[in-house]
Amino acid sequence: MRILKEGAAERVGEVSARDLELINELSKKELTAAEVFTFSLILCDNEIDRDFERFEVSALEELAALFAGRTGISDHDWSSARQVARIYRTELVRMPEKTTAAGEEYVCLKAWAYMLRVPENETLIAEIEGGIKKETSVGVSVSESVCSICGKETGSCGHVKGQEYGGRLCHAVLRGARDAYEWSFVAVPAQRNAGVTKAFCGAGGLGGFVESEAGRSFAGEFAQLKALADVGRGYLGWLRDEVKRLCLICQRDMYGALSGAAESMGAQELEEMRAALEKRVSEKLPFRTQLPGLNEVTDFDGGECTEYLI
Ligand SMILES: [Zn+2]
Repeated sequence: MRILKEGAAERVGEVSARDLELINELSKKELTAAEVFTFSLILCDNEIDRDFERFEVSALEELAALFAGRTGISDHDWSSARQVARIYRTELVRMPEKTTAAGEEYVCLKAWAYMLRVPENETLIAEIEGGIKKETSVGVSVSESVCSICGKETGSCGHVKGQEYGGRLCHAVLRGARDAYEWSFVAVPAQRNAGVTKAFCGAGGLGGFVESEAGRSFAGEFAQLKALADVGRGYLGWLRDEVKRLCLICQRDMYGALSGAAESMGAQELEEMRAALEKRVSEKLPFRTQLPGLNEVTDFDGGECTEYLI
């Protein structure tokens, strides 16, 4: 998420009459164009972020209403209670020429905010104008988070965020915006426990983050988790092959459909499928030994091997 530089530059000293009208609806005293500094920023969008989450467009629409009139702070600094800027207008911007990783039309929630041109804000205004304060973060709460692969509530299925299933990247879809707690300029995007805090700091993903100044201390943990993820991916691949193999043995007519479905199944579903197919194989092809025990003879009818001839 970033402040649109051109927006900020464009608006310096050029506050339109309409902007001023909206600002004065929010301010305690009547302000003149010379007393305010305005800029625009992107609060959030429907792109899959580095937490492998994305807002549904309807949630962005709800957030547009929730963020109007909200004050913003610098560096999550609630202690000083210095709420430096206030959003006076929000708008959903659709970009049909841009497609998200989920294959949707790119939509972002753009906001316009104003600050008072007072000495305390001089540094921040200069930083925005200079493009230094580019990153913002928003704290919002949503009522629903569902898996993009199966539509179940996030965490209730076997799909893992960040992994691909049948060429589709698994992520959480955030719906039903309930509240917009805050928006702020941040040096390092922060996480909050309450609700969902979306912190955007450009491309690069988690790998990029651990290589950055802010994420360097997490590099060891990241490497360990990455190694474990590789093991997990190997296990998933093996499970998928097992399901396909067992399907070929006992349910050959379903092989085409099942092998396709297996690509988008999570570990839990694959394990269940494997257990069911194994059961079916043992029913269809019961294990019989040539050495059943003393004084007993296994009766082969010659049909045992036909099942294997596939
Ligand atoms: Zn799922």
